[in-house]
Amino acid sequence: MALNVFLFLVLLILSPLSLADEQYIFTPLELKMDNIANSYVAEPLKKLEQLEILRHESANSSVAERALIKAYECSLRAGLTPKLAQQNLDKLKQLSQENQYNHSVRAATALCQSDIARQKNNGDYDIAIYKSFLFAQKSKLATLRYWVSLNSNSLFTKYNDIESSERALNIAFQVASDNNDIYRLNMSSFELVNTYNKLQQYELALANAIIAQDTIEKLDNQWYQDKIYVSHSTTLRNMKKYSESLAFSKKAVIKAKERGDVRESKFILLDIALIYLFQEELQLANELVKEVLNYSTTFDDQYLLNQGKLLKSYIYLFEKKQEQSTVLFEEVVDYLGRENYILKQIDNWQQLIEIAALANNQQVVVKAQKQYSKLFKQHSAKEHAALVTLLTQVYESIRQDDATITQQKIIQTLEKKAQLERNYHILLLITLILGTLIALFAIKALWRNATIYKANQAEINRQLFYDPLTQCFNRRYYKDVIAKSLMSKDIEDGTSFLVAIDIDNFKSFNDTYGHAAGDVALQSMVNSLQSDLRANDRVVRFGGEEFLMVLSPNDSFKVEVVIERIMQLVRSTPIIIEDKPRNITISIGYVPVGKVNHTSELDALLKLADKALYLAKENGRNRAVGVYDLQCPASAVDNITIAHKNALLKLTEITSSYTKNSA
Ligand code: GH3
Ligand code: MG
Ligand code: MG
Repeated sequence: MALNVFLFLVLLILSPLSLADEQYIFTPLELKMDNIANSYVAEPLKKLEQLEILRHESANSSVAERALIKAYECSLRAGLTPKLAQQNLDKLKQLSQENQYNHSVRAATALCQSDIARQKNNGDYDIAIYKSFLFAQKSKLATLRYWVSLNSNSLFTKYNDIESSERALNIAFQVASDNNDIYRLNMSSFELVNTYNKLQQYELALANAIIAQDTIEKLDNQWYQDKIYVSHSTTLRNMKKYSESLAFSKKAVIKAKERGDVRESKFILLDIALIYLFQEELQLANELVKEVLNYSTTFDDQYLLNQGKLLKSYIYLFEKKQEQSTVLFEEVVDYLGRENYILKQIDNWQQLIEIAALANNQQVVVKAQKQYSKLFKQHSAKEHAALVTLLTQVYESIRQDDATITQQKIIQTLEKKAQLERNYHILLLITLILGTLIALFAIKALWRNATIYKANQAEINRQLFYDPLTQCFNRRYYKDVIAKSLMSKDIEDGTSFLVAIDIDNFKSFNDTYGHAAGDVALQSMVNSLQSDLRANDRVVRFGGEEFLMVLSPNDSFKVEVVIERIMQLVRSTPIIIEDKPRNITISIGYVPVGKVNHTSELDALLKLADKALYLAKENGRNRAVGVYDLQCPASAVDNITIAHKNALLKLTEITSSYTKNSA
């Protein structure tokens, strides 16, 4: 138990959200809603009745809470009474319009849209749920954060965007832990086990498996206990702790049988057979596989049969019957291909690499590696492209929502103005002077409104993607949009460049002229960078005085020239402080970006750009060091230490003519 508490703490510390000191506690109204949601017996209609009562009771609840009730009603109605669901949506759109900058309201609206889209099955579901996730991340309503995060997790899983899954599930987990909500802790930690296993972060997967186990024991309803045992076992197997893994799988078989799911228990038997294989207990593995093959043939269960065959093909490998093994394995992947289980197919090739290595069969290892990397590349290229398309649609949809809201407001303002003008005429009849005064007031107010609307039009988008001080893009935009589009590029698209930029001796600039002057310098530098951008280049503030430029490929593009120009521009743009011009310089490190498959590879490239930047600093600042030709795949970058003589890199150094002259 003490160990579990310890792991729980470790998990909290490691979780990216633990840095946020904000807590998300359920409001009394949310708790009441939760009671309604969790009453297993109540029919949807009964729940709707209870919600109706709640809605009347809570006349003075916040607009966010009212939106939440509407969203929940919409969710219950979407399948039952589409017309009423649409009414909920209209009401929510109205609320969105009146509360354009309330993230909870916008999230609830998108959530309702997603429920309706799911029923209509028209492909808008993905856009709507993604939209609601973007807004819900900024919402303070605990239930909404949890609900939307869990829903979007399945979307991210579908697009195989595991990093976003992790982000979403950690939001859900935080809500659960802030409220000490055992049920939600259980759900979110269980999902996190699978996510961390996919990310190959097994320690975190294990910590979550333990929390999932601890929490389910405190719940009344434990029907999916076997699934938690299975995920626990998978984690331990990944960590190569075979005997512990075996113990959990055995427990899982018992639980699956207890709840009458014989089919599930057979799948778990195959898990056990796999563990036996890793322990090289061929005999034991063989017996289990035989049992499953018999069962699946009797019940004509093709999927299970093929999973059984897969294990059998592994066993053949150990028995040095390579031909039989290959025939069976190919049958299985053919089947999976036909039934469109592409991810499963890829997983199997990957597993085969491991198994063949264990069975000392180099020939199969080589073949499996080739096949795996071919399929993986094909598939991940497709997934990335799909994800980028989705994101583009999501941002376009938010932009359109904003435009509609603004349009509506302009219409309202004009109506109000027309109304006031009518009043104006009547008043004119009563008394000319009084009328003039009122009209003046009215017009002044209208002008003010119109100006406020205009100024705030794109506020939501700005808050999501822009750095408030310098108005360039923020890290989130890099992660959500730029990184993903870099990963979906083909080699033929040309080479992009990551350019890491850091202001020189900025601390002493701050110390000398004050922090406010430093802020002005940051803004001025971003202005300089942005004045030189081509259409697809981006400036991102990574933090403090560190920036990243992403230069897109171009036929006539010469990176050294662009970088020289950037440095020159910053160097020669004076910053006016108390009427006196001051100058700053920057140092730069840059790397080319070829084909990238994984966020981790892109991160490694970023690190390499940082190393180059460090070298520029070391060599005297006010210069750029770049890797202009990377002669290894992005996945190998992590191991490179940058140095002038490194054979894997071709480095180039750009110093200013100014420095050259003075040196
Ligand atoms: P180097 O040339 O090695 O980069 O030296 P440096 O002094 O620029 O580097 P260091 O990283 O030690 O200092 C960065 C400074 O940037 C520290 C902090 O005061 C300043 N800074 C970070 N963010 C801001 C900001 O938003 N506004 C202002 N005015 N200063 C900032
Ligand atoms: Mg710095
Ligand atoms: Mg600096």
